[in-house]
Amino acid sequence: MPLLDWRDARHFDATRNLPCVLCGKPTTLRSHDREPVHEVCAEHWCDQHPTSNRFHN
Ligand SMILES: [Zn+2]
Repeated sequence: MPLLDWRDARHFDATRNLPCVLCGKPTTLRSHDREPVHEVCAEHWCDQHPTSNRFHN
């Protein structure tokens, strides 16, 4: 499983903190589907759902 690469500006919304869909704490990171989620939370989720592409491009 490759590590996520979310350095791209598309994955960052500096104007809004929204609750992470996984842990509920505020984050400015966005998945490619625009879900607010921490990178570390998404990686953990991917580890537990290896067949899903929810947080992968
Ligand atoms: Zn989180």
